[in-house]
Order: sequence, then structure tokens, then C-alpha cells
Amino acid sequence: MHLKSLTLKGFKSFPDRTRLEFGPGVSVVVGPNGSGKSNVTDAVLWAMGEQSPVAVRGQTMQDIIFGGGRGIQARSSAEVEIVLDNSDATVDLPFGEISIVRRLDRSGDGEYRLNGAKCRLVDVLEILSDTGLGKEMHSVVSQGRVEGIVTSKPKDRRLLIEEAAGLGKHRKRRRRAQLKLERTQDNLDRSLDVEREAR
Ligand code: ATP
Repeated sequence: MHLKSLTLKGFKSFPDRTRLEFGPGVSVVVGPNGSGKSNVTDAVLWAMGEQSPVAVRGQTMQDIIFGGGRGIQARSSAEVEIVLDNSDATVDLPFGEISIVRRLDRSGDGEYRLNGAKCRLVDVLEILSDTGLGKEMHSVVSQGRVEGIVTSKPKDRRLLIEEAAGLGKHRKRRRRAQLKLERTQDNLDRSLDVEREAR
């Protein structure tokens, strides 16, 4: 699986529809300082469902919408599409390509689409957790992050390695199962109390 294309419209320094295509292997984005290279990786992260404005170098999420400049008017919404090659069926869906679209208006309204169909953030995150590209999978490593990893505490570094090895998904599932078990135990205790009182 690899990222096949990235399309930005109204996102940060890209007011007009801009499409970047990537082949398998390594791609390099080059350009002068401030030309928008980091905005490209911000866009990938954002399309994958990033919820923190800080992670995409903003203060509010609306900061990712093109705010005007160079004689071009501000845009009222931003939209980013990533297309993933799924010819090796990494994602268990009958599609050779997986398209994820995220849109946000200045009013704060937004939506996600999966291969054209409206969906929820959880659907996007679920799909991505199967690919090794999901949130906290360290598929996007920002500037300064490498130094942060090297100087992090052993416990935090272990968490990073576990996420990279794909254990994070199972840890979350185990936590969900534990919560379900605790709820079931509570219900059982309550039922036993009711039964005892009825005797
Ligand atoms: P460097 O090499 O210095 O790290 P870079 O190529 O990674 O730079 P970016 O940080 O991606 O550059 O882009 C910065 C540019 O994006 C700035 O000119 C900034 O004004 C512009 N920019 C960021 N957000 C917006 C926005 N919402 N609207 C318009 N322009 C924006």
C-alpha cells in the first residue's frame, strides 16, 4: 500500500485545486523556505483525521483554510483528498484504491468521505488502523520529532515502538473489551442483588 495522490483545495497555502501524484518508493518534496512543503505533510495528516490544530501547526482548525494573500481572496472552506493504493488488499475492502476526503468550512462544519460516500471520523480511523498509516502510527514525523524520540523516556519510546509494530490497535481493543467486561460485571452484580432481594 502506498499514497498515490494528494489533492488540496483551499488548504493553507494552496487556494486552488492542486494535485500531487506519488509512485511507490521514496518521493521528495523540495522548495525554498516557506514555499509550503510542510503544508503538504500537514494536509496528509489532516486528511487522515488529525483532531489537534497544533499538530497541523494552527491555533484553531479553521487556520488550515487559505486565509488570502498574494492578491488571492481567502477561501471559505478547505478540502483534502488522499488516495491510497489498495491493489494488495491491505484494507479489507473490494476497492483497488481507497479515497479519503476531509472538508472543513469556516463555520466549523465539515465532513469525511470514503470512496465518495459520506462517513464518520471513526470509519476513517478504523480503515487507517489496518494500514499502519493511522493516528499515532508515526507515518508523519514532523520537524523536531526525531530529536524528541531520541531524548524521550524509555517508557514513552517503548510506546512508540509498540505503535509502529501495530500493537496500539490491539491495546485499544483490549481496553474496550476490559471496559465491556467491567460493565457486564456491574450488571451481573446488580441482577444478583435484585434476585437476592426478591427471595
Ligand atoms: P520551511 O522550509 O521553512 O520549513 P516550508 O516550505 O515547509 O518552509 P510551510 O511551513 O509549509 O513552508 O509553509 C508556510 C507558508 O504557508 C507561509 O508562507 C504561510 O503564510 C503559508 N500559510 C500557512 N497557512 C496558511 C493559510 N491558512 N492561508 C494562507 N497561507 C498560509
